[in-house]
Amino acid sequence: MSDSTVCNTSKLCAYGECVDCKQTTYPLTKSTNTVVTLTQWCQEKVDYSKPGEETRMSTITVKKDVPTQEDELVAQFLDRLFKFRRHIFNIRWQYNAYRNLRENLTAKDCLIHIDFSENYTGTYSNEIQSVHFGGSHQQYNNRKNFYMISTAPHQMGFSKITWNFFKSSNGKGAPDGVGGALKRTADTLVRQGKDIPDAKSFYQQLKESSKVKLFYVSEEEVEKMDESLHQVPLFTVKGTMKMHQVLSISPGILKYRDISCFCQAAEGVFDCSCHSLQEVSLVATEHAEKALDVRPGVIKHHHSGQWCVVRYDDQPYPGIILEVEEHNVKVKCMHRNGINRFFWPSPREDVNWYHPSLFYFLPLLISGYSFPV
Ligand SMILES: [Zn+2]
Ligand SMILES: [Zn+2]
Repeated sequence: MSDSTVCNTSKLCAYGECVDCKQTTYPLTKSTNTVVTLTQWCQEKVDYSKPGEETRMSTITVKKDVPTQEDELVAQFLDRLFKFRRHIFNIRWQYNAYRNLRENLTAKDCLIHIDFSENYTGTYSNEIQSVHFGGSHQQYNNRKNFYMISTAPHQMGFSKITWNFFKSSNGKGAPDGVGGALKRTADTLVRQGKDIPDAKSFYQQLKESSKVKLFYVSEEEVEKMDESLHQVPLFTVKGTMKMHQVLSISPGILKYRDISCFCQAAEGVFDCSCHSLQEVSLVATEHAEKALDVRPGVIKHHHSGQWCVVRYDDQPYPGIILEVEEHNVKVKCMHRNGINRFFWPSPREDVNWYHPSLFYFLPLLISGYSFPV
């Protein structure tokens, strides 16, 4: 239905930017102002406080009958159909990009397919999930994840990283395959009388009966990692709902765009300028600013990927921490241009080990490639 409202399969048409089809709608029979009833998932606040105690409110999702005028319903439908063509375009495009990427992998590449499966709960929550498009984007919209993706793989020796998003789960295709299969196996086990009340038991029951190799990550481990990321400068990324590709070519620097592009990947170039490629600014948060105001007592592993200032020849140079060892810290430094401007040397990078006593930390606001300190 949405395909019939566009001239062709281009991004321009799908994104409503084509003059010929941005107003095109799907022809429907003439609607009237008759009131019809529509069944919808709605958020509702409920009061579950006990008498005599303070008020406790909770938001729950309920299925409700909503009376709507027929012509209003048609308007709403056409509005959603207009947004849906962008959505369907993104799904097709991202899936295609994924398939091409997979088919062209070399011995030096690594492809990780991550499925953020929703919690293992009953049918009711699955029903809600299938009603709301875009729900799973929540997990991606996490600045700590963006920080991690632009630092951790570099520390492991990868030079270029891209993170490509499929649209949220729609129950079809490979992105949902593994999670779905595991949940079905779990359901079968429950029917056979096994109890799966938590993640640990899910892991223990499934690791024997499933062909998928499973790893269990405890809540404590997640909290520990989360805690260690409290003092890092975080990226402020605008429009995360729209982006489908995140790239990191240099540690601590993030680029992103509307949809994935690998048009020059064969030549080793991942950050081609296609589809509104943007570079993210590294903005220290209030919290991080406080922490970075003075140099921390010890430079630790979690400082990798962070901006710093090192002293060299009694002059300060900004750089990015690449690796931390007990008595040495590896830093990629910028070069000086004039008194107070810096740039990244190219093509040869300036990577050196520095003694921790040569460090200052400071919150930096980066704009462009050349900036005053
Ligand atoms: Zn068009
Ligand atoms: Zn491109």
